[in-house]
Amino acid sequence: MQRYFASIRNNFAYLSKEDEHHLLNVMRANKNEDIEIVFDNKLYLGRINELKPLSIKVVEEIKSEVELPNKIILIICLLKGEKLDLVVQKATELGVSEIVFVASKRAISKAKDFNFSHKCERYNKIAKEAAQQSHRLSVPVINRLIDFNELGEIVADEKMIAYEKEDGKTENMINIVSNLSNDKSLAILIGPEGGFEKSEVDYAVSLKFKLVSLGKRILRAETAAIYSLSVISCLLEK
Ligand code: SAH
Repeated sequence: MQRYFASIRNNFAYLSKEDEHHLLNVMRANKNEDIEIVFDNKLYLGRINELKPLSIKVVEEIKSEVELPNKIILIICLLKGEKLDLVVQKATELGVSEIVFVASKRAISKAKDFNFSHKCERYNKIAKEAAQQSHRLSVPVINRLIDFNELGEIVADEKMIAYEKEDGKTENMINIVSNLSNDKSLAILIGPEGGFEKSEVDYAVSLKFKLVSLGKRILRAETAAIYSLSVISCLLEK
C-alpha cells in the first residue's frame, strides 16, 4: 500500500501538492482505495473518498514499530559531488534521526561553495522520499551545516568519531552501542574524503567523542556512514 507523510485535520488527511500528483497521476489511485498516512509519528489507514477534489478520510490508526529505539545523529563532513545525496538516502533508510553536515579542513567540498540552503531543500526531499519508501514514521531532521569548531553544539548522550587510525577492530563501537540504554541518544562523526586532521580528532576527543574503528579496511566516507549506521541499527534492534 502506498504511504505518504501528510497532515490530518478533523479526520481528513491532506497531502502536499507533489504527493497528490504522485497519488493521482503516477499511482493512478481510484475512489475507495486505501492508502497509509503518516502524521505526527503515527501511522493511519486512509480511504480515498473523492478524486476531484481529492478527499481522504482517516479510517483508523495502525500500530507500527519501525523506528530505532534510540535517537541516532549522523554528523558527516562535506563530500564532493552527489555523494551526500546517497548518504542522506541510505542514512534515512537505516533509521537515522538527524543528519548534521560539518565543514572540516581536508574536505574537498568547501562550505563557501556549498550553497547549503539550496542543497538542504534537496536533501529534505530525498529524506522524505526515502522515509516514505522505507515505511518510516518520521523524516530525519536536516537543517544544519556547522564548522568543525562548532562541534560542541551537538548534544548527544554518547558520541563517536570514526577514525581509520584506530586499532582496526569495531569492538569499541559494538560496546558503546550495545551499552546504550533506550532513552539515550548517539552521534557518529564521519570524516571527508581526505580524512580528519589529527588536530580535529584531538578536538573531537576533548568534546568526549570516543574513537571508533570501522574495521581494517579504509572505507570511502559514504561507505563509512552506511556501514556505521548498519552496525548501529543491527545492534539496537537485536
Ligand atoms: N583519506 C583517508 C581516509 C578517509 S576515509 C586516508 O586515506 O587515510 C573517510 C572517513 O571515513 C574517515 O575520515 C573516517 O571517518 C571514515 N573511515 C573510513 N574507513 C574507516 C575505518 N576503517 N575505521 C574508521 N573510520 C573509517
